[in-house]
Amino acid sequence: MEPNLIQVFGSYMSWKLNENTWIINFMGGSQNIYLLEGREKALLIDTGWGAGNLRDLVEKLTRRPVIVTNTHGHLDHSGGNGEWEEVLMLPGAEGDLFTCHRLPFDVSKLPFPNYIRKIVKDGDRIELGDRTIELLDISAHSNGSLAYLDHSTGFLFAGDELESAQVLMYETEAIPGYIFDLDTRLRTHHKNMLRLRALKGLWNTLLPAHNGAPIAHGYLDDYIGLVEHIYAGDAIIEDKLNHFYVEQSDPEHKLCRVRWGDASFFVNKADMMKLYGASSL
Ligand SMILES: [Zn+2]
Repeated sequence: MEPNLIQVFGSYMSWKLNENTWIINFMGGSQNIYLLEGREKALLIDTGWGAGNLRDLVEKLTRRPVIVTNTHGHLDHSGGNGEWEEVLMLPGAEGDLFTCHRLPFDVSKLPFPNYIRKIVKDGDRIELGDRTIELLDISAHSNGSLAYLDHSTGFLFAGDELESAQVLMYETEAIPGYIFDLDTRLRTHHKNMLRLRALKGLWNTLLPAHNGAPIAHGYLDDYIGLVEHIYAGDAIIEDKLNHFYVEQSDPEHKLCRVRWGDASFFVNKADMMKLYGASSL
């Protein structure tokens, strides 16, 4: 029997990373939502695809009032926003929400389709009670990406900007007002990763929004190296993406994987070849 949409996009399993932090894992293990509990409040990082059944689970895990935030506006992270009254995000994330017609669910039927979008900025802090979360703007994969630095545990929640499988560095749909070319994305990503590395000591555990979590610190070094080796012209280009869903959306094979060590990006190959070997950073 074919699974229905809620079984595909809204079958969650959760486990504790420590006594007051949960991974909510779904999409066959490929996506991670996080729930952090402080003495007074909880923080939910991302809302999934909008299957409509996430809030029930979250309220079984914690009795604290929940603050909701998106690592960024891509639909697999923000689809369920309408289950809550208010969601914190960067301004660039807000632009991505207008592509919600591509979601598998009619999110206008969620309880709060006109939820408040509370705009935050780099350096803002969320106080949960004996647990302070600092927001870091690390936009490159998307127009508005946050990392969350948990000062009480050393957890660093990195969203889609740093993960074990690949980071996507192309837009599937242009967002008005945010033209973010590959050169800008790569240079910004490099700067962001150097910033995260410089903050080492404040964090000890890297927790991405996709695939395995936590991941080795070496991924961060390899992502820094990857951008440097693209511009130096000796990063490794792999024509095969080895990603079923992205390959389905790229019938003309415009994308490639570019790799250094354990780090790789999916990029538009023609755009990348203009930069490949063009300069040193
Ligand atoms: Zn994304």
